Amino acid sequence: MPLTRASARPFRPGDLVRVLLPLPLDAAYDYRVGEGMSLQAGDFVSVPLGPRQTAGVVWGPGSGEVAEERLKEVLGLLEAPPLPDQSMRFVDWVAAYTLYPAGAVLKMAMSVPAALAAPKPVVAYVRGRDDPGLRMTAARRRVLEVLADGPARSLSELASEAATGTSVVRGLEGAGAIRAVTLPGRPMAQPDWRRPGPELSADQASAARNLEAKARRGGFGVTLLDGVSGSGKTEVYFQAVAEALKRRRQVLVLLPEIALTAQWLDRFGERFGAEPAEWHSDLTPARRRAAWRAVADGGARVVVGARSALFLPYPELGLIVVDEEHEPSFKQEEGVVYNARDMAVVRARLGDFPIVLASATPSLESTVNVSTGRYETLLLPDRHAGAALPRISLIDLCRNPPARGRWLSPDLEGALKETLAAGEQAMLFLNRRGYAPLTLCRRCGHRLKCPSCTAWLVEHRRRGELLCHHCGHRANRPARCPNCQAEDKFAACGPGVERLAEEVDALLPGIRYAIAASDTITGPKAAQELVRRMEDHEIDLVIGTQIVAKGYHFPLLTLVGAIDADLGLAGGDLRAAERTFQLLTQVAGRAGRERRPGRVLVQTSMPGHPVMEALASADRERFMEAEARARRDAAMPPFGKLVSLIVSGTDEAAVDDASRRLSRAAPEADGVRVLGPAPAPFALLRGRHRRRLLLKAGREVAVQAHVRRWLQSVSLPGKVRVQVDVDPYSFL
Ligand code: ADP
Ligand code: ZN
Repeated sequence: MPLTRASARPFRPGDLVRVLLPLPLDAAYDYRVGEGMSLQAGDFVSVPLGPRQTAGVVWGPGSGEVAEERLKEVLGLLEAPPLPDQSMRFVDWVAAYTLYPAGAVLKMAMSVPAALAAPKPVVAYVRGRDDPGLRMTAARRRVLEVLADGPARSLSELASEAATGTSVVRGLEGAGAIRAVTLPGRPMAQPDWRRPGPELSADQASAARNLEAKARRGGFGVTLLDGVSGSGKTEVYFQAVAEALKRRRQVLVLLPEIALTAQWLDRFGERFGAEPAEWHSDLTPARRRAAWRAVADGGARVVVGARSALFLPYPELGLIVVDEEHEPSFKQEEGVVYNARDMAVVRARLGDFPIVLASATPSLESTVNVSTGRYETLLLPDRHAGAALPRISLIDLCRNPPARGRWLSPDLEGALKETLAAGEQAMLFLNRRGYAPLTLCRRCGHRLKCPSCTAWLVEHRRRGELLCHHCGHRANRPARCPNCQAEDKFAACGPGVERLAEEVDALLPGIRYAIAASDTITGPKAAQELVRRMEDHEIDLVIGTQIVAKGYHFPLLTLVGAIDADLGLAGGDLRAAERTFQLLTQVAGRAGRERRPGRVLVQTSMPGHPVMEALASADRERFMEAEARARRDAAMPPFGKLVSLIVSGTDEAAVDDASRRLSRAAPEADGVRVLGPAPAPFALLRGRHRRRLLLKAGREVAVQAHVRRWLQSVSLPGKVRVQVDVDPYSFL
């Protein structure tokens, strides 16, 4: 780490500093700066905590509230670049907004404790002395050839490039033909903004120029890049990325799902000639550590990742892109509950730089922000290279139903056959994993349920199991009904993707298909393999859940069939209609992305529903206006605010008691109302009983202050937990 001027390190031996620990604690603790140490805000330090040692961050001068005899000393300064000031302010801001302890938010920024130690030097091999007497084998020769050109290689790289084992390499080292050297770290290839992008269409070019100018000027501003699927949004925001790189700023691109990163990474690599740093849950510990460290020391210029990438310690962040900004998966529902899209906007404001939200189906929140002038918008109304948007037709399941026990209507079946006969590819969309969502006894009607959740067990026939999708509980299919003891009377009810595959298989023997669901596409590698099989036309059909709905670009894919378009409309979710519209539009957008025109068949029992009418008439505007009116009339978000409290515990009586007490202590103020407590739709989840309270307030109300006072006014037993969710997306 570079030496810093003493004046920039204001805390000297004997001073008190406040140290925030990555623990769910609200307060930062005071520690004394030890002899020979000088510290500044943001420094990562190691401090004693009870009998343990833990890493924390110097948050500022001490409060002086700790009694002299209890005061402990900072143990040491860790060898990591300090947490940037903007990151510290971001942690405080997110904590205050979400009502989670600052330490819990800091934990997300310090998710790789191992990265706080100086990186281990990398041992690599170079050519050693030439020894004519060296016993030569084919494998040894390959190793020497690999090292003949190019840089030093690590043991494993060298072995794999030479297609041999590590013992051969070590043997050569022993013989002196190669030798080990120590490198300070692995140099990263940097994305090159000088590389030319594709020739842009007029619309694309004007949008790109606008974003480039923003990236060049800096300064906070939100731009909604609103373009139909296939219009080239990615190419357009790549221009802004290039400009930010040119200005020596770091760039963060948030994607809603890690499975999506595969094709995105390829495109980024083609455009910029190097990979960005990846950040998501599927990384090995070594890669996480390297990525965290590279972000912190500025070595990583572009990061692509899932929502938690927002909390990495960027010293020079200058642009954020949130792709598919409408996606509900930007909302993190566990741990600190926050919306990564909204917090990304906050991060940009704190850093005073531009942020781009991209979508073909923007959220109502963003649409309203555009109409009130808070956000700017750039439109890309057409698909690239004259590709037409696919025609969407509804299939009325009441008039044109599938045969008994089947899920494909005759029309969809016919279209599927035509598509395959034409040598094209198809996608069937059904947002349900497994074989069947419900298994019941035909004799007594008993339904197989999860013992720990208010949920049915979903049959996964390929794995031979019944599975709870909420807690992961597994069971074998019982031989007898647990209720009436009848044997072999179980019936699978309703379709999942596996069952649909079975039907297609029977209909078109020998059809080459893949099932794409979160349990078959578990990470970027699996996604990449799916992409490859589609691109190489090894398969004709993808049967998938929402994970195939967006992002993918398959030139030969011309038919998309939605098996049960009504699925997402059930239940009382505030955003059910909006989400269904977005999801179906996204899936439809997979069809006909290149020269061959696409068509989309949507099976529904409610062809008159506003969502279905909007799809069929391609009239997003009217639909969104109607949605906005309905929300405004009900004073619901984004025209009002919601905060939900979920009270849970294993002791049902204690949960009920706590909920009632919270309800009695509910804030009373103008424009604030508290609804509930009511049993949550998942009244039992992972063995915990759950009740919900919902605080509803006007837009202008500072809800956080109310909720903070409310929670402080009631003291609840430790066995009852209250989860706070500001701006809830899930109402389960
Ligand atoms: P979106 O993100 O809006 O769905 P993409 O950026 O994925 O659109 O573009 C769709 C396809 O069209 C991609 O394969 C992309 O490479 C291609 N494309 C878009 N714009 C151009 C362009 N100006 N020149 C060449 N190819 C383009
Ligand atoms: Zn369960």
